Amino acid sequence: MIDDKFLAEYENLLYQTERPSRYIGDEFGSYDKDFNSAQGKFLFVFPDKYEIGISNFGHKIIYDLINKRSNLLCDRLYAPDKDFLELLEKNNKEIYALESKRKPKEFDIVGFGLQYEMCYTTVLKLLEMSDIPVFNEDRNNSHPIIMAGGPCTSNPKPMSKFIDIFIIGDGEDVDIEVLEKYIQLKNKMPRDEIIKELAKIEGVYAPLLNNKTNKRIAQLTYENHPINSPIPHFASVHDRAIIELRRGCGRLCRFCQASHINLPIRERKKDDIVKLAKEYVKNTGYDEYSLLSLSSNDHGKIEEILSDLSCHFRGTGINVSLPSQRADRFSLELAKLAQSEKKATVTIAPEAGTQRMRDVINKNLSQEQIINATISCIKNGWNKIKYYFVIGLPFETYDDLKGIVDLIESVNLACRENGLKYPQITCSISVFVPKPHTPFQWARQNTILEIQDKIKYLRELKDKIKNVKFNFHNPKMSQLEAFFTRGDEKLSDFIYELYKAGSYLDSWDENLDFDLYQKIAQKLNIDIEKEASKEFLSDEILPWDNIFYGVNKSWLLDEYNKAKNSTATIPCEVKCNNCGVCSNFKTKKILDK
Ligand code: SF4
Repeated sequence: MIDDKFLAEYENLLYQTERPSRYIGDEFGSYDKDFNSAQGKFLFVFPDKYEIGISNFGHKIIYDLINKRSNLLCDRLYAPDKDFLELLEKNNKEIYALESKRKPKEFDIVGFGLQYEMCYTTVLKLLEMSDIPVFNEDRNNSHPIIMAGGPCTSNPKPMSKFIDIFIIGDGEDVDIEVLEKYIQLKNKMPRDEIIKELAKIEGVYAPLLNNKTNKRIAQLTYENHPINSPIPHFASVHDRAIIELRRGCGRLCRFCQASHINLPIRERKKDDIVKLAKEYVKNTGYDEYSLLSLSSNDHGKIEEILSDLSCHFRGTGINVSLPSQRADRFSLELAKLAQSEKKATVTIAPEAGTQRMRDVINKNLSQEQIINATISCIKNGWNKIKYYFVIGLPFETYDDLKGIVDLIESVNLACRENGLKYPQITCSISVFVPKPHTPFQWARQNTILEIQDKIKYLRELKDKIKNVKFNFHNPKMSQLEAFFTRGDEKLSDFIYELYKAGSYLDSWDENLDFDLYQKIAQKLNIDIEKEASKEFLSDEILPWDNIFYGVNKSWLLDEYNKAKNSTATIPCEVKCNNCGVCSNFKTKKILDK
């Protein structure tokens, strides 16, 4: 319930903002726990707009797991959009948690979900708007512990002056352990001693101690998956129930960070998935559910899962989507089961245009498989195809770029041979970012000029094909991502200056002021492009080397060297390549399961 005290303070401001429903909470499916009686109070902060944050599956898991415990409470906060932020600042008001309407400093732990590097300055602004010092060394016993989790913690160094503790790996178990330990220790010792104790938990990295840590891995069970979640008052980015099938991906694409940091592969049991989907849809009223995984059709029982679910939901108008299907395991039966009620766009990710380049990145996908999957879809009524490509990859040549256009021409040729109408093809083309803990972590990124030349070349080639549209990711944004993700603790000063200069919600193209980044780089004597496009030496200590994700560094380096010779590595589902994760974490290999 929205109480009178809150309305008296904020109602007038809410009337003036573009979308007040982002800031009132009280959504259907949200928890309503008593703030005062909770022993441990956790605030999950998503440093992006409400409609992005509310769709994030990771935060739904943590929100649900903490709130299921009778002694704990988890509330949420999303970054206010610029108009509401200005109103709050002008009126000297702090931000507040959505459900309890409490100020962030009233919580025990404030945990930020760092999904992408471009949210870093937003984190600082949200700390300022909470009246919490942005630097960790300036905080005292009156302040909550500032925590961060999510994929960006794979290199915590750039944010190391601002965050008290980072969670490395899956948060399910470790977040609860941190909160329970905090309850035991609060009021018994000073804050910095508590942080020292929390850093003893496996999976916790405290920058002020600069400890080494291993990531945490969670098992995928029925119990640790939500069957309900807050339904936004207005349409969000992904307005559907999400059921996670598996975590980790044994395809080991060499540029893919999600694949490497989420190993080993863990699969949720078929019966649990079916039960979760039925319950989640029933509890939320969604008319669509998505079976989430880095590669949905790699789940060992995917056909049975889809068959059970399609039988259950037949005739109800409730659809299922498989967000990431592999073209080599593409099955028309699966596609039909997954899209039984409506024909949406089919997405396929060749990532590169030539076989040579697909071997460099270890895509394990042939031209024939891509074309066959596409033609099967067109024959069965899908006429919108979306392909994902990456450009600027290590060892890429202009012939590899031409291969993207050649591939589309081959699809069109196959359509003519089969008497089919050309499909509408959209190519979403991103720029390679060398990510920590991947075989390409040592590689350089192309400069902006190099990428602009490549985009120009591709645009000219594409002009003669009428049924294709190219959407390019902003190369400046990709350069900044690389700059942040490969940086060390010195980047904290850069992030601080940027935040002071007004950078906020910079992952949105319309907010990104690239000149501001350049101005600050100049002031601090930093060359952004040089940092983003430098190649690390193979024996160099990397900024993220004290964080261990289980894959041996020597294996990553072998993979990088194999890429130079366009040598592919066989997926985990076919043969174990001894990357080290399964033995380091003493888990069963997917083949043995
Ligand atoms: S140890 Fe083998 S099976 Fe396990 S993740 Fe690595 S390559 Fe795959």
